[in-house]
Amino acid sequence: MSSLFVLPPECLLQPFPVPQRLMLGPGPSNVPTRIAAAGAQPMLGPPIMNQVKSGIQYAFQTRNRVTLAVSGPGHAAMDCAIFNSLEPGENESCQWHMWREGAKMNTVVTSAGGYFTNEGIEQINTVVFFLTHGESSTGVVHPTDGIGDLCHKYNCLFLVDSVAALGGTPICIDEQGIDIMYTGSQKVLNAPPGTAPISFSERACQKIFNRRTKPISYFLDMSWLANYWGCDDNFHHTGPVSSFYGLRESLAILAETGLENSWKWHKALAEYFHKGLEEMGLKLFVQDTNARLPTVTTIVAPPGYDWREITGYIMKTYNIEISGGIGPSAGMVLCVGLMGCNSSKANVEKVLEALADALKHCHKSRV
Ligand code: PMP
Repeated sequence: MSSLFVLPPECLLQPFPVPQRLMLGPGPSNVPTRIAAAGAQPMLGPPIMNQVKSGIQYAFQTRNRVTLAVSGPGHAAMDCAIFNSLEPGENESCQWHMWREGAKMNTVVTSAGGYFTNEGIEQINTVVFFLTHGESSTGVVHPTDGIGDLCHKYNCLFLVDSVAALGGTPICIDEQGIDIMYTGSQKVLNAPPGTAPISFSERACQKIFNRRTKPISYFLDMSWLANYWGCDDNFHHTGPVSSFYGLRESLAILAETGLENSWKWHKALAEYFHKGLEEMGLKLFVQDTNARLPTVTTIVAPPGYDWREITGYIMKTYNIEISGGIGPSAGMVLCVGLMGCNSSKANVEKVLEALADALKHCHKSRV
């Protein structure tokens, strides 16, 4: 008889069989066996980090010295980018609400499914301009050409979130004057969630390494992280080694495939999918064909149906995960992700069949 007050939980004394599922939501995507197996290798140390760094430099098309993977999800990289590039009290001239570390923030809004013009962007007065490249809630790929030059003209840093787009649609950070960019491991890269590639230009480093104040996070402080990834024996934190193995393997797959081939194939597959949807009578949420994100397709929620019933039916009947909208697109769309190894003709056909069947079987009210 144990004298412990909290007993071993019953649920942990049973095996936990994880069901196989085709993950066609806006992420995470399925992890192929090669990447999963890489994560099961014995623990090593720094040598893998240099390889991961070169793989990120290739995926981001950058020679930035300060290029690494944050130990955490996309949000950790987002915090890392913002905590390091902004200081309390910055953007003093603007009547904006405060970001968590005390800098002021202005949110500019466009219609869901739309995007900003460079003329509109030029009107914004800020020290860091933060743009989402692939909008996973609306399915928009935002144009990025010319924005870097605009930012630099006004001594502003250009920060890009490419969590949902990197590897599936073109972005070359050196050429486009992007100062900070990050992505996640669990989307086009098909690695498990939990590591987030990030890179900083020399301009960004100039600002970050000459701050007046320390960033509010020790864990995400770039002056420590840059040393840690410089492999100079400086201990900062225990990195998720197995996840870095997985990330290394996914970057290796991208290197073998070739970035341009990956862009081409995601675009071709997305167009094939969009054609199939339109032939079924479904409408795409993003009107401008050039602004459609190849990795995440948003479909106008079919009138008269409850989108939850459709996603639920597809999950139950086909074991395929697709999702509804979030944020600005909540209730308005169905979201289908085709990322990395999931971006295949066979998967497009499966999801088209599942959607057609759901429209036949789900309840439709008169509209
Ligand atoms: N940005 C975008 C565009 C995303 O789609 C996501 C994840 N859905 C994130 C950031 C956050 O990434 P994570 O969930 O890995 O924190």
